Amino acid sequence: MYKNIIVLGSTGSIGTQTLDVCRKHNIRVLALSANRNTALLEQQAREFRPEYVCVTDTQTAEEFAPVAGELGIKLFKGKEGLVELASLKEDALVLNAVVGIAGLDATLAAANSKKDIALANKESLVTGGQLVMDAVKANGVKLLPVDSEHSAIFQCLQDHESAKSLKKIILTASGGPFFGFDSSRLETVTKAQALKHPNWSMGSKITIDSATLMNKGLELIEAVWLFGVKPEDVQIVVHRQSIIHSAVQYADNSVIAQLGSPDMRLPIQYAITYPERYDCPAPALDFYAMKDLTFERPDPDTFLCLKAAMEAIEKGGLYPCAVNGANERAVQLFLEDKIGFADIGRVVYKTLSHFNFQGEYTLKEVYETDKKARAFVDEQLLK
Ligand code: NDP
Ligand code: MG
Repeated sequence: MYKNIIVLGSTGSIGTQTLDVCRKHNIRVLALSANRNTALLEQQAREFRPEYVCVTDTQTAEEFAPVAGELGIKLFKGKEGLVELASLKEDALVLNAVVGIAGLDATLAAANSKKDIALANKESLVTGGQLVMDAVKANGVKLLPVDSEHSAIFQCLQDHESAKSLKKIILTASGGPFFGFDSSRLETVTKAQALKHPNWSMGSKITIDSATLMNKGLELIEAVWLFGVKPEDVQIVVHRQSIIHSAVQYADNSVIAQLGSPDMRLPIQYAITYPERYDCPAPALDFYAMKDLTFERPDPDTFLCLKAAMEAIEKGGLYPCAVNGANERAVQLFLEDKIGFADIGRVVYKTLSHFNFQGEYTLKEVYETDKKARAFVDEQLLK
């Protein structure tokens, strides 16, 4: 078990659940970060007494200075501050629970400063997968998945002899609140409906991604990078109950799955205690209480974000980064009531045919692509 942890995005849904796990196992929290929620950050700082904090929103950071002073905590500010946290000289696991491409630099910085990474920030792999995997390999660090599906796959691959004959990954999807809807019904759904996920309570961006199925598209790309498989070797299966968190199929067609209650503290804890297992705050499954476990096909022709992500990873290069950038901007506009729900899928899909981004890339090109994709969304939807 890691003894020290740096929690990036500690005020979010994954961040607060990570602190639950730290509390339970007395893990030393070396550093915390928030973007703007300094009220919660202060509460966390008073409880965990970290040595460092970062407030990424520079204006808000100034407001936190008196608290940091009183508690004797070193305060870092802005995007650069997040990178400094990920590169601290102390030996610690970096758990990255920042939302969006804003987490990429910190993932790279953690790897380059030889720190193992527990990754919730799937956008790091979606936007800069090649760069992240190169940095992880070059520095010989561990990249431990926090996303429940990827944690499940990782757990199913712990039989290292069998893992050599991996044939296929079965990536399960809850289907979100609008599963079974056709395109015309998607036109009329509201923000309140989209923000209500049937099985999980999460941050607003990933909740919308779950409703559009972009989340599953991002997870497909994440799986391709994490497990070194081809996109066609990942089968997405809608499993409404979110009990089977994903599965793997080996050469002999044996399928090994990981099951558990829908509670992120289990995959978070496994990333921290790997390869050991301990008592966990997540409740145990009650097989007598479970009724049906169902399996269905996803519908990418209706959920265009999923289609865009599937095509983007097939095309490779910076296509995944472009669809991610378009999605981040479109979700932001939807949450600000500036566009409709169905606009998200339409514009994300359109981004694919608008750009040509094949081949290898640099970090600078990642950010340029992200910027172009966001500008394309504004141009299309805010005329
Ligand atoms: P939240 O929105 O709940 O939390 C995001 C965290 O990142 C907060 O601490 C927030 O600070 C901080 N943050 C926001 N914007 C920035 C920025 N520009 N720069 C730096 N920090 C920022 O998100 P979740 O916890 O739901 O998700 C975090 C990541 O984990 C995402 O990549 C998501 O896809 C992934 N994930 C989440 C799951 C879940 O169950 N929630 C499941 C699987 C993966 P502040 O509070 O101050 O705004
Ligand atoms: Mg997931």
